[in-house]
Amino acid sequence: MTDKFVNFDLDKNILKALGNLGYKNPSKVQGEVIPKLLKYNSVIVKSKTGSGKTASFGIPICENIDIDNNDIQALVIVPTRELALQVKEELSNIGILKKVRCSAIFGRQPIKEQIRELKQRVHVVVATPGRIIDHIQRKTINLDNIKYFIIDEADKMLNKGFLEDMEFIFNNISQNSTKGLFSATIDKDIKNICDIYIKDSQTIEIENKEDINKKQIQENLLKVEEIEKYEILKKIIYIENPDSLIIFCNTRERVMRLYSKLKKDKFLVGQLHGDMSQDKRIFIIKDFKKGKFNILVSTDVAARGIHIDDISLVINYDVPHDKENYVHRIGRTGRKDSFGKAITMVSSKDEKYLIEIEEYTQKKIEEIENINENKVK
Ligand code: ADP
Ligand code: MG
Repeated sequence: MTDKFVNFDLDKNILKALGNLGYKNPSKVQGEVIPKLLKYNSVIVKSKTGSGKTASFGIPICENIDIDNNDIQALVIVPTRELALQVKEELSNIGILKKVRCSAIFGRQPIKEQIRELKQRVHVVVATPGRIIDHIQRKTINLDNIKYFIIDEADKMLNKGFLEDMEFIFNNISQNSTKGLFSATIDKDIKNICDIYIKDSQTIEIENKEDINKKQIQENLLKVEEIEKYEILKKIIYIENPDSLIIFCNTRERVMRLYSKLKKDKFLVGQLHGDMSQDKRIFIIKDFKKGKFNILVSTDVAARGIHIDDISLVINYDVPHDKENYVHRIGRTGRKDSFGKAITMVSSKDEKYLIEIEEYTQKKIEEIENINENKVK
């Protein structure tokens, strides 16, 4: 553990870039992970959303890139395109003065352009699984010499949907690479795969129960029937008057419908879901960050990893059916030192999911009886 970046003995260009980013001291997870990855020890890391996991692998990767070598030296896999762009951005910022070159590779983008890009000098590739497999099969990417293989948001990557893809990737990269698995939650699926593919790893768990459960986020629930939800939502918005609000719905149809209603009622609102083009989604996130509108209605696409900081309020218009998504959704608020709030609307048909969530977070979410009388504190 160290409390200063200078103690890591990093390249001066990296230290300078960190200074430019405004990173004064390493976060807890960075303090633990950076020295291990610098020494090429594989790690399995559990640490909450917003704790600075990206730089915890980004700094050692950039430090150990040999810029005179044109090979791809690090591969970072992420579950979504938004995250690929974001992680690439962060790594580029860290490595910029050392002239580390990073590239983001994801689906729904012309493969020819990517092939051209991969032929240039690229040291670090940040990619979604599908597209990287495509490149491996076409032999348009060479991962034989990577030093680092990182899986970010590993809980999303190693569950049923992605498992085969991940196995394919594991089998097609340098077996000598140092592995890093990063996630806010780690379950037994992940533990199993780690046993097979990540030998001699060290597990680092940054305790988060305290913060997520008590200190930074006030969690409440409201029992409402589906038909009342919209009117109650408007009341909450009126009473809370949040500077920024994300409302999560479970499906894109519900996002679209709620977005239209709010728009019609003259709220400053944007929407985000998987049916929208990549460009559009990036545009929306930018506008929301800039404050062009203060309410974002979204599916879980926006729940993971995206830096939308300082959200004052998160409302779950629907109870997430995946308990882990609950933690990720409310993680959009109360980031770093700011205090946040999360309100979940629970209709009778969703109570079973609520129970799962409460078991998972080992905490009872406090119920608000009546939004009119009981201002959410
Ligand atoms: P995680 O992946 O754990 O959810 P991120 O890597 O996305 O967290 O980081 C969360 C936020 O904290 C980002 O806005 C990032 O720029 C910022 N950040 C990361 N490390 C530091 C640091 N050492 N000092 C200040 N801010 C940091
Ligand atoms: Mg992250």
